[in-house]
Amino acid sequence: MILYNFLTRRKERFKPIKPGRAGLYTCGPTVYDYVHIGNLRTYIFEDVLRRALELNKYKVKQVTNITDIDDKIIRKSEDEKTDYKKIGSRYSKLFFEDLKKLNIKKAEVYPRATKYIGEMLKLITKLDKKGYAYKGEDGSVYFRISRFKDYGRLSELDKREIKSGARTSSDEYQKEDAQDFVLWKARKPKEPFWPSPYGEGRPGWHIECSAMSIENLGEYFDIHAGGIDLVFPHHENEIAQSEGATGRKFVNYFLEGEHLLVDGQKMSKSLRNIYRLSDLEERGIDPLAFRYLALGTHYRAKLNFTWESLEAAVNALHNLRTSLLRMSAEIALGENKKRSSAADKKEAGRILKMFKEAIDDDLGTPAALSLAWKTINDTGLNSKEKIKLITEFDKVLGLGLGETTKKYGKMPVKVKQLVMEREKSRVHKQFIQADSLRKKIEQLGYTVEDTGRGPLVVRKI
Ligand SMILES: [Zn+2]
Repeated sequence: MILYNFLTRRKERFKPIKPGRAGLYTCGPTVYDYVHIGNLRTYIFEDVLRRALELNKYKVKQVTNITDIDDKIIRKSEDEKTDYKKIGSRYSKLFFEDLKKLNIKKAEVYPRATKYIGEMLKLITKLDKKGYAYKGEDGSVYFRISRFKDYGRLSELDKREIKSGARTSSDEYQKEDAQDFVLWKARKPKEPFWPSPYGEGRPGWHIECSAMSIENLGEYFDIHAGGIDLVFPHHENEIAQSEGATGRKFVNYFLEGEHLLVDGQKMSKSLRNIYRLSDLEERGIDPLAFRYLALGTHYRAKLNFTWESLEAAVNALHNLRTSLLRMSAEIALGENKKRSSAADKKEAGRILKMFKEAIDDDLGTPAALSLAWKTINDTGLNSKEKIKLITEFDKVLGLGLGETTKKYGKMPVKVKQLVMEREKSRVHKQFIQADSLRKKIEQLGYTVEDTGRGPLVVRKI
């Protein structure tokens, strides 16, 4: 399995630390608002990564944090005059609902930052002992970037660029150097706080991820994934904190998913183009059509979201489902009595191998999707073999295609009876009656097509 490692800017063969296992940390949401479709694109890419590892028989342990204490959460709770915990539980619930609608598999652990304050303080103390941390005049604790030689390795920013970048951001805390970042924020009036050896306060955002990943995956683990906007400073700071504290390598592979654009532009409040999954649902769009759209662009390329492209994805997914239902109907008509020949099996094996090669080449979902279409339209395989293949593909694509046949594949007794009656009428050349029976069948949501083998009855979806 080949992955593009952002640490080395190269495609590399994935070598697990422990044979047969893969430790995966994926940065989760800060639960102060709905996640938008840009975030969801990242979660879909990470889900494909997880499924691809499973396809390669790795036992995956995925950890996705929930940041439930942060400036934005506190601000929202002040605006709404509610407890910050209520804000957190409201938006984390909505986050999980979105994941479910997009067929995103559950991570093994969803640690919440507020449950790991002790672990964060342990890390800060370690950093302090090694000279990586200091207390500022305002009582907050900062990470001393000048002490960490490798700083900027992931983002490939040199110190000068980092400095000028840091200077533009408003610094409300007292630091030795403008580029240093906060590990522990001194308590401020009306804000939630915890006791610590450095005085009462709350953790900085970056230390949360270091503590939760180390606690759940160990000091050294396989893969860390996130959106490209997190490379600097978040992932850069995670590396500095974790490697500073443990004195060893933190993660082998960093995978960063590219941005989603809307009509060619970055999503922003001023452009009013920040969409959520619910905005799609309000237009009657199946969330899985968004997943289909996301799979159509490689995760390292920018995805330009437009309503037209989404509409095309809606149609494509619909056609894919209909093709599957049609094939099941063909099987019901007796196609399955035709046994798969050795040549069929060999061909199916070859296609499955091609699918795996596409996925193993740094998660090539666009190639995998087009292979699914090719399998349906351009192979001489019988319906049974085709369905088997598509079902295998869907273990990685996650489009819920297996559900389609389960949900709609069984024909109701009433429809079956009408089809049989219509056949009788046809045999007796009572075509007017046969036609009116066809209409009845159509009203029940099925189409009938007369073939050499008999009537092909397909559910309309
Ligand atoms: Zn993170």
